[in-house]
Amino acid sequence: MSTTEKHHFQAEIQQLLDIVIHSLYTDKEIFVRELISNAADACEKLRFLQSSGTEIHQPEVAPEIHIQTDDKLGLITISDSGIGMTHADLVQNLGTIAHSGTKAFLSQLAEQNKKADAQLIGKFGVGFYSAFMAAGKVSVHSRAYLPQEQGWVWTSEGANGYEIEQAQDLPRGTRIVLTLKDDAKAFSEESKLEGIIKRYSNFVQFPIHLNGKRINTVQAIWSRSQSEVKEEEYNEFYQYLGHDQDKPLYRLHFNSDAPLSIQSLLFVPAKNWESMGMGRIDSDVHLYCRKVLIQSKAKDLFPEWLRFLKGVVDSEDLPLNISRESMQDSTLMQRLNNALTGKFIKFLGEQAEKDAAAYETFYAEYQRFIKEGVATDYTHREGLGKLLRYETSTTKKGELTSLSAYVTRMGAEQKETYYLLAPNREAAEASPYYEVFLSRGTEVVFMYDPWDEFVMEHLHTFEGKTLKAAEKADLGLEKTEGESLSEADGAALAKWMKETLGEAVREVRISQRLVESPAVLVDSDKYMTSSMRRILKAAGKGQEGSGNAPQDLEINPRSPIIIRLSAQRGADAALAGTVTEQLLDNARVSAGLLEDPRAMLKRMNELLERVLGKQA
Ligand code: ADP
Ligand code: MG
Repeated sequence: MSTTEKHHFQAEIQQLLDIVIHSLYTDKEIFVRELISNAADACEKLRFLQSSGTEIHQPEVAPEIHIQTDDKLGLITISDSGIGMTHADLVQNLGTIAHSGTKAFLSQLAEQNKKADAQLIGKFGVGFYSAFMAAGKVSVHSRAYLPQEQGWVWTSEGANGYEIEQAQDLPRGTRIVLTLKDDAKAFSEESKLEGIIKRYSNFVQFPIHLNGKRINTVQAIWSRSQSEVKEEEYNEFYQYLGHDQDKPLYRLHFNSDAPLSIQSLLFVPAKNWESMGMGRIDSDVHLYCRKVLIQSKAKDLFPEWLRFLKGVVDSEDLPLNISRESMQDSTLMQRLNNALTGKFIKFLGEQAEKDAAAYETFYAEYQRFIKEGVATDYTHREGLGKLLRYETSTTKKGELTSLSAYVTRMGAEQKETYYLLAPNREAAEASPYYEVFLSRGTEVVFMYDPWDEFVMEHLHTFEGKTLKAAEKADLGLEKTEGESLSEADGAALAKWMKETLGEAVREVRISQRLVESPAVLVDSDKYMTSSMRRILKAAGKGQEGSGNAPQDLEINPRSPIIIRLSAQRGADAALAGTVTEQLLDNARVSAGLLEDPRAMLKRMNELLERVLGKQA
């Protein structure tokens, strides 16, 4: 004959219930996560006891979780074949404030000096009460694993306390029946419930069935060791997680214990969706603690420039807040971020060494992100600098090299790394700024992406060498042969040209850098370069800003045009003036700075007329 015992909740439980029901959790649906986590913990404890040789009731029944739902009756039943609870457990674990039987289980193991390699989720001792957010009545049918135990039913409607009654013929484990409140009946719809289970508990390591159907088929492969995971499993996992039919470009599976416990599996998708006009992408890395989702698309796990990653980070010792919905400690998040970012940069460097072609495929898709990293991520700047790739004046077209490789090729006397911005290789090689480097045989890094200039400014120095724009380089020609204007004639011509051009230029002077070209524009401002002027103009900042300040015109005393111009000046000042204006415009064209070609074309036609007229 069974008797019903009535118990009052400990006084504080009433308050706790209020908090749990009304304010602890942001989403009602998390009661599913909490009850499944408890069921998984019960299964894990059973697995642990069984493997350490403890005698167990129904040893042949494997630990599993079965959920039944009935939307007509508004019932959800969650059953597990875990360790179950004795009468004392029910009173203590479900009737005492913030008492976590799971935490007690762990400290008991610690006292007995047993290695606690059980992977348990619970520790706050409040999750169970979340059931009352959705249910008006909760009954817990439980039979503990101990062979001589018997079954009990614990029932509560929240408010007044709970009742415990004996129960006959219960299988080992726990069955929790939730009678949903009217406003929570929707949770008993099978498809809705399935969605919630998948969202939070998809990687729970014990099988979860809903109305007889297995729900969690994808394994938490990130917590296994790399050697155990097969290639297909990785690809399958990626497809599942990334909703992407293509194989990923890269995969990094990495586990560490110290100083932080991290289990992570990260993927680089084959395509950079941002460059495909899909708008800005969001990080797709999810934060787990012991395989239970804490935060999907966890924003602070990685710096912005790594937002193309997809994957999972699981950290066992996250100091979670009590509702398990966020991390309590933002400095720890920062440390995680730092460790993961450093690891990923190192990984990319290793891949580049191992298979340069594969790295270049990655680089072609994702170089803008690396560059964004150099410009914004001060902590990892030098490491990121190693990942940049460019053509140089000594590589073949299409062949890329790193700045580190450039530095190793430098002669002992070279103190700076030189780079030249140009629209493409042909333009770089034809650039007047390149002439002095060609004549000296000095390697120059060619850059074709307008971002590169800003990237170089942020990087500033790499492996001890200052990065210097070619047009700012302080290199003179080594020796000069052939005809040249005398120093006095050169100076006189420069003075006359400045008078002719007026405010259009700041200064005209003899150049030390030109071999072929007659003239070139140079900025006297320490930072401004021609490509930067182009960007400022394009951004509409050119009118009054420094993007429009007059530049210096350097002239080549060995150029036949300059030599003849000097001679012509006395004979035909008007023609010499027109030629001088044309030389300035030509220099603007080669710097990419000529905005309105109309005046130039008109002048050009005048010059053509004169040339043809003379011959006629
Ligand atoms: P936590 O999981 O953080 O310990 P909960 O409030 O979720 O806190 O659960 C309280 C305790 O009740 C658990 O620690 C566990 O001892 C016990 N418990 C809850 N659900 C089950 C279950 N399905 N099987 C066995 N014990 C359970
Ligand atoms: Mg719990």
